[in-house]
Amino acid sequence: MSLPTVAIIGRPNVGKSTLFNRLVGKKLALVDDQPGVTRDRREGEATLLGLDFRVIDTAGYEDLDAATLPGRMRQQTEAAVAQADVALFLIDSRAGIVPLDEEIARWLRASSTPVVIVANKAEGRAGETGVIEAMALGFGDPVQLSAEHGEGMADLFEGLLPYIDRDEDALQIEEDDESPDAPLKLAIVGRPNAGKSTLVNRLLGEDRLITGPEAGITRDSISIDWEWEGRSVRLIDTAGMRKKARVHEKLEKLSVADALRAIDFAEVVVLLLDATKGLEVQDLKIADRVLQEGRALVIALNKWDVAENASSLFNGVKGALEEGLSQARGIPLLTVSAATGKGLDVLIRVAFETREAWSRRVSTGQLNRWFERAIEANPPPAPGGKRIKPRYVTQVKSRPPSFVMFGTRVDLLPESYRRYLVNSLRKEFDFAAVPVRFTMRASK
Ligand code: GDP
Ligand code: GDP
Repeated sequence: MSLPTVAIIGRPNVGKSTLFNRLVGKKLALVDDQPGVTRDRREGEATLLGLDFRVIDTAGYEDLDAATLPGRMRQQTEAAVAQADVALFLIDSRAGIVPLDEEIARWLRASSTPVVIVANKAEGRAGETGVIEAMALGFGDPVQLSAEHGEGMADLFEGLLPYIDRDEDALQIEEDDESPDAPLKLAIVGRPNAGKSTLVNRLLGEDRLITGPEAGITRDSISIDWEWEGRSVRLIDTAGMRKKARVHEKLEKLSVADALRAIDFAEVVVLLLDATKGLEVQDLKIADRVLQEGRALVIALNKWDVAENASSLFNGVKGALEEGLSQARGIPLLTVSAATGKGLDVLIRVAFETREAWSRRVSTGQLNRWFERAIEANPPPAPGGKRIKPRYVTQVKSRPPSFVMFGTRVDLLPESYRRYLVNSLRKEFDFAAVPVRFTMRASK
């Protein structure tokens, strides 16, 4: 089954490519990219809060005079629109409406494809005049967003939703991937000498990676599959597990870049800390990044066999984590010894459990029973006397669990109230150990 198609339309420089790149991200597929021939359209698969669709970008005319209407631009735009289920008509809210926008609006009105008008470059509520001018084009209230800064994406989601039915097949693929039998994609990251190679060797039960003080040992494979108590685990390897460079600073730098690469591929990331060294800023940076990327995080204090003052050490690290990491509460902090193997069973078991929570879906019924209780227990404030009416919450995605809350003026709710809801939701549905995305979407 084919995905619904969205065409991004607009005059040069309104931000079409920027929006395209944001929607498509890493899944970018370039088509017809031969210079001068048909460098006209880029297509790719996009995901927006769980909504999957194909997106066509019609950019590529920056070199042409923006004041005129080149025939080819029109041809390409018409072809893209005809093929699409919905057209996103971008205007630049800072520059306001120019004649070329009006001309494009005329073609779009003549086409049978529905149009969602988007006022781009509206970060920080900029470009109010452009937004008002855009209303006059006759496509209703524009979705205000900033393609560059990623603001307003939930609004775009709601704008597109009526035209794009959630594709059953696409959802099915995600479900398959979520099967508890699929290999657990696990990455082990941490600073040099935290004990990553030792841990991997211990887990694999053989000397697959060579540890020790010698530099320059390399391996080629990027993942290692193995079984743990009958369940498969795919270990995402990072160059950080190998001894790559002799220079200390170089290693320090390398480990962050490697960690980032591994995080990309993993479902669960184990951040390994050296208990004899404690927590450092670099560890917090990696942890923060893991959560930002929406991956599940497990933190393990290694070398526990030689740790002194175990309980004060543990509490110290725990406290520092909570202070340095906004989402730290609920993230598992374990103690292990890669050298002796102690604690590794628990580590892998917790990694599996964490993935289970990370992949879980909550039904809208359950969610809203919780929601009503949460709102009753702590009603939303009324900033400036304006009543805020939350209506309902829905889970749009798992891996990580992502929720959208709809209601009147809910976008005015203070961050503290959003945090209250997120914490309550995490507690209620056992999402404590995973990052949860929660977006507020005001309806009119
Ligand atoms: P296109 O010709 O329509 O594909 O436009 P581009 O995506 O190439 O963007 C044109 C210019 O606008 C670039 O310099 C972008 O960095 C900038 N731009 C795109 N989106 C935004 C935005 O949301 N805010 C701001 N301030 N600039 C943006
Ligand atoms: P990596 O750079 O993170 O891959 O760290 P290694 O696995 O190479 O370990 C660095 C050093 O710490 C080596 O000398 C290991 O023998 C030692 N080490 C690793 N895990 C443990 C542990 O659990 N206990 C103790 N005492 N030493 C460990």
